Amino acid sequence: MTTAIPTGRVARNYNPLPIIAEHANGVWITDTDGRRHLDMLSAYSAMNFGHGHPALVAAAQDQLQRMTLVSRAFDHNLLELFAERLTELVGAEMMIPMNTGAEAVETAIKVARKWAYEVKGVPRDRAEIIVAAGNFHGRTTTIVGFSDDPGAHDGFGPYAPGFILVPYGDADAIERALSDNTAAVLLEPIQGEAGVIIPPDDYLPRVRALCTERNTLFVADEVQSGLGRTGATLAVDRVGVTPDLVVLGKALGGGIVPVSAVVGSREVLGVLRPGQHGSTFGGNPLACAVGLAVVDLLADGHFQRRAERLGSVLAEHLAPLRGHGVDQVRVVGLWAGVDVDPALATGREICERLAERGVLAKDTHGSTIRLSPPLVIEESELTWAVGELATVLTELRTG
Ligand SMILES: *Cc1c(COP(=O)(O)O)cnc(C)c1O
Repeated sequence: MTTAIPTGRVARNYNPLPIIAEHANGVWITDTDGRRHLDMLSAYSAMNFGHGHPALVAAAQDQLQRMTLVSRAFDHNLLELFAERLTELVGAEMMIPMNTGAEAVETAIKVARKWAYEVKGVPRDRAEIIVAAGNFHGRTTTIVGFSDDPGAHDGFGPYAPGFILVPYGDADAIERALSDNTAAVLLEPIQGEAGVIIPPDDYLPRVRALCTERNTLFVADEVQSGLGRTGATLAVDRVGVTPDLVVLGKALGGGIVPVSAVVGSREVLGVLRPGQHGSTFGGNPLACAVGLAVVDLLADGHFQRRAERLGSVLAEHLAPLRGHGVDQVRVVGLWAGVDVDPALATGREICERLAERGVLAKDTHGSTIRLSPPLVIEESELTWAVGELATVLTELRTG
């Protein structure tokens, strides 16, 4: 057993809950004292299939023995296959592999700008990208430049120009912001970090129609919402919308290695030519082996249906908490944002109390708690976890 005593040598860019994880299996994380905790975060959806999923671990172990990295300077046997299977799964024509979500978002931004100059005819260096308030697209200097979260944004300027921020969920605002220089509208179909914010049903279809009308790309960042979480393969599938580019990450790496990708049409991704974009590790054999196994898990729709079914169980259990310490609940698939009455406690306090009771969840933006358990969770485990949340709320309300 290794006990980690904080030595102050890790930069304090996170404020983790006071447990020290040592091993994990399925939905359970065991700490260094041997206590088990139910993982209700799934590493922000990177762990959609649970810790140590046998098919994913086997795929990784098998590939570890064969070959892990050749760089894109040489082709390898799994990249075309991964591209074929992934694009089939999400109904796209082409893909470009990257590693982290932020890198894939950066890739989509570069592709959209290049498309704007070469295909749409936007004057050089004038391309604009419309983004939404409350967005979270990663942590690079370009991306945090258009974040309106002071914690993510402030202190990292100067910021890259070319981004226009409009309110989320308001298609009229996008219509007003569109210009002849708009390369793309970049949105999360459901905003994850903002607290599982679900836009009005007609929002994404209207954005799609506006983008088509104005010859502008619709780019959906599905790094957190994609790959089963919402009860569909992609969150945009729920409203029958096909974006020009979809950004994938997190669950694509099965919680084993970072794997991200941008998928889309040949017309758009085809603008990239050799030497114009790349990544040393992007599309490496180990990543492709794990990514292929992830696509296999999603291919028959089992996990999507499970997320949908357990999501209604989650919604059913959360609904009665409204008015009893909870102001608002938003649920889509196996993904919930729970706004706790700020007068009662901060989200952080709730999460600390939950951790003491063996439930690991993460607060976001003050008083919101995000619930996103692995999709392999059993109904009884889900019921138990929400019961623990109810108990914590009752404790706080009755002092
Ligand atoms: C997590 C996330 C990212 C960034 O992914 P990283 O792998 O942490 O770089 C981008 N977009 C969305 C919607 C995310 O949730």
